[in-house]
Amino acid sequence: MRSIVWFRGKDLRVTDHGPLAEAAAAGEVIPLFVLDPWFFAPARARELPHRMQFLLDSLRALEADLARLGSRLLVVAGRSVEVVPRLASQWRADQVLAHRWVEPLGRERDRRVTLALGSAGIAFHLLEGETLLPPGSVRNGQGDMFRVFTPFSRSCWTRLDLGQRPPGPPPLPMVPGGLEVEVVPIPSLAELGIPFNARIQPGGEGQAQARMQAFLEGPIGTYGTDRDRMDRAGTSRLSADLKFGTLPARRLWQAAAASEPSESTPRFLNELLWREFSHHLLWERPDLLEGPFRKVFQGFPWRDDAAGWQAWTEGRTGYPVVDAAARQLRAEGFVHNRARMVAASFLTKHLLIDYRLGEAHYLKWLTDGDWAQNNAGWQWSAGCGCDAQPWFRIFNPVTQGKRFDPEGSYVKRWLPELANCPVAHIHEPWKAPGSLRLRLDYPNPIVDHALARERFLATAKGHLGQGRP
Ligand SMILES: Cc1cc2nc3c(=O)[nH]c(=O)nc-3n(C[C@H](O)[C@H](O)[C@H](O)COP(=O)(O)OP(=O)(O)OC[C@H]3O[C@@H](n4cnc5c(N)ncnc54)[C@H](O)[C@@H]3O)c2cc1C
Repeated sequence: MRSIVWFRGKDLRVTDHGPLAEAAAAGEVIPLFVLDPWFFAPARARELPHRMQFLLDSLRALEADLARLGSRLLVVAGRSVEVVPRLASQWRADQVLAHRWVEPLGRERDRRVTLALGSAGIAFHLLEGETLLPPGSVRNGQGDMFRVFTPFSRSCWTRLDLGQRPPGPPPLPMVPGGLEVEVVPIPSLAELGIPFNARIQPGGEGQAQARMQAFLEGPIGTYGTDRDRMDRAGTSRLSADLKFGTLPARRLWQAAAASEPSESTPRFLNELLWREFSHHLLWERPDLLEGPFRKVFQGFPWRDDAAGWQAWTEGRTGYPVVDAAARQLRAEGFVHNRARMVAASFLTKHLLIDYRLGEAHYLKWLTDGDWAQNNAGWQWSAGCGCDAQPWFRIFNPVTQGKRFDPEGSYVKRWLPELANCPVAHIHEPWKAPGSLRLRLDYPNPIVDHALARERFLATAKGHLGQGRP
């Protein structure tokens, strides 16, 4: 049996990799990665600079790990819907194995590849692995998708088998000789025209493993209390690893569940279920990438506000947490979850700017930028998503800052112009006494919180109708 294992950017590892293990057990293995111009044409790649940096790191690590196991990653350029069926026929492969994607883009690609391979008599097997449970498999008693997180998570808990240990990397045979193919090197960032950013986490399975260990040996113990603190390194910072599959969710779940028991562990596992929820949602509702989950939000009167948008993206709104989030995003491709929620709420509610603009902006700059999770985060924040979050809940950026960044150290880290602002005024610098206020090179709030709140509520009530969900 000759198998092509098609790595597709969300499974860049050799451990606990279903397609690789299955192919190795069956016979000859050809590991393949396709540089599809959809992502890798320089103009496209430059649209996701941080993700591209992490991805290229992870690809190089995968290449090295496969070589260490006695195999070889074949990197080929071209449109995957054409390249994969062509190579599979040319190499006389019996089957192509890959991990399933939940996004509409990936599903359409897989539909076309299935047809092309099928017409050549070659099987295409899509294996689960991105999520803990197969998308579409978690349904309520009536067989419908869950529309609220809590019952979804309860259902997941009853289905998850925590006892299973993930398999290590399989022994791999050498790639068969005589394969005709134009192999290309993994491109460098410079070749794609992307400047290297030293603040982006290094990618690769080894790095992911080390990050996971560090988290499980320390911060997980206080995760329950620290996860919301923007000023502390209290979370795992494993989101990009989960996104690119350098660490599979299953492995993280099992390692966390097996770690020193603490009150915080279930809280952490619950966050992995939020990830799960968003992926299952997108599987059930592929239209979510186009419009709101709650249909009543269709046609919502979002405002055109070029000045507000510019201030929000540049971190010059005058609200320190919102601005720190904007600067952190551009600087290190990451934003603390609490800051993401405050910033997203501010854009959609204080400024009444369409959540889809914020969603696209985050997807461009986040290293962990993931279609399913990002969309769910933005729809949740805008109040139009699939959850119990009421649309009229509006974060107050000042009280959020005081509560989750009490000393203002998160804010000061990203806003050097507030370095000399006393803690008492750090989240509302416009209230600093006269002479000090003048010395701070920081704008006044572009909107007043109370007025912006009233404006949003009035607009939303007008569109949604009084009391409508
Ligand atoms: C507006 C907005 C946009 C977001 N966009 C993304 C995105 O593109 N990619 C992404 O991975 N996460 C996104 N999130 C969720 C969350 O902010 C990040 O997963 C988290 O900040 C990553 O940090 P961490 O790995 O230290 O998380 P931890 O707190 O250590 O959590 C562990 C893992 O659980 C998952 N997780 C945690 N919180 C959430 C959540 N609320 N929703 C879904 N999954 C979660 C992540 O995979 C995370 O790595 C978004 C949230 C919001 C509000």
